[in-house]
Amino acid sequence: MNKKTVKDVDVAGKRVLVRADFNVPLDESGEITDDTRIRAALPTIEYLRDKGARVILCSHLGRPKGKPIDELRLTPVAKRLSQLLQMKVTKTDDCVGSQVESVVAKMKPGDVVLLENLRFHAEETANDPDFARQLASLADVYVNDAFGTAHRAHASTAGVAEFLPAVAGFLMERELAFLGKALADPARPFVALLGGAKVSDKIGVIENLLPKVDKLIVGGGMANTFLKAQGHDVAESLVEDDKLDLAKELLERAGSKLLLPTDVVVADAFAVDARHKTVSVDSVPAGWRILDIGPDSVETFKKVLMTAKTVVWNGPMGVFEFEPFAKGTVAIAQVLAEIDATTIIGGGDSAAAVQQAGLSGAMTHISTGGGASLEFLEGKALPGVEALQDKA
Ligand code: ADP
Ligand code: MG
Repeated sequence: MNKKTVKDVDVAGKRVLVRADFNVPLDESGEITDDTRIRAALPTIEYLRDKGARVILCSHLGRPKGKPIDELRLTPVAKRLSQLLQMKVTKTDDCVGSQVESVVAKMKPGDVVLLENLRFHAEETANDPDFARQLASLADVYVNDAFGTAHRAHASTAGVAEFLPAVAGFLMERELAFLGKALADPARPFVALLGGAKVSDKIGVIENLLPKVDKLIVGGGMANTFLKAQGHDVAESLVEDDKLDLAKELLERAGSKLLLPTDVVVADAFAVDARHKTVSVDSVPAGWRILDIGPDSVETFKKVLMTAKTVVWNGPMGVFEFEPFAKGTVAIAQVLAEIDATTIIGGGDSAAAVQQAGLSGAMTHISTGGGASLEFLEGKALPGVEALQDKA
């Protein structure tokens, strides 16, 4: 990675503003239901504390749309951080202003302060320069560890870097290292596994990956449009008819590089308790819909995946939220867990599916940024990454 990291700057005694991604899921009572994102930020926070920095954390949570909303305060995050770091993490009531300034002024080396939800100010998402300057004025160094929001040019992800030396945290570094290497210099064979609901969500990824991969496996709902483009009758399956021409063109361009399911699990309704059966892709019954890949497809995909040295997976193979249609996704996750390859999972639902299968620990890297990893796989520059200083 050619971006400077926390290791490339002197942080001893400095006030360090860390943009983290603490956008965690909360239940109705405001309890954190999954603290993966908080845990993912710990290595950077702990490193900075060790070096004697004053650590000022900031993040967004949910979509408050520029107004303070009590349910979206970062109080539960501060509480969880205090537990995980085994120290008091003070949370301020705002992210800029005089109260914040006086709290920061009293910080000692090793202290950790969490600023209130950045998106209580509309200036955050508007990347307002004055707001960015106010945030920057709290610190001497800026660290971006929020890969999950790196695809957005906001005040805390891009604007603030205009006013402070800006470097990557360890999570950001790790994300860029794995995704970057897979795209730029993958160990081969390099296989991409794409699924999920819609072709239209993943066109950019297909276009960018097709020339780079040795094989492109397509499953999930998006395979239906390709199957229909090949002339199969997919009945009531989710299909994007306005993408049929594109699918034909991609099939032609990809040739034998692109693999589609040969059998599928079909259901008589889009429901967890629907009647279902496995059929060949050329025998989808009228009135039924494809909700998963079948066992023959899993076998075919497995043969290809067994030879791979790098696998990037984005998008589940079926409607994994319904247990009867999760088998294809789980079977593929098991294959990835077994093979001797660098396995990278991008995409929020894909990561959830792997976690649901209990196989998170068996993957090389699970991206913490759904949208950001998707844009990275599309080959787009991420503003939050661009804003960081290059290594000399
Ligand atoms: P990710 O978040 O990993 O990028 P997507 O958001 O693109 O993945 O797609 C995930 C969604 O795709 C899931 O909600 C899943 O139910 C849906 N999906 C997968 N296969 C099908 C299918 N055959 N028909 C309808 N929806 C599907
Ligand atoms: Mg998704």
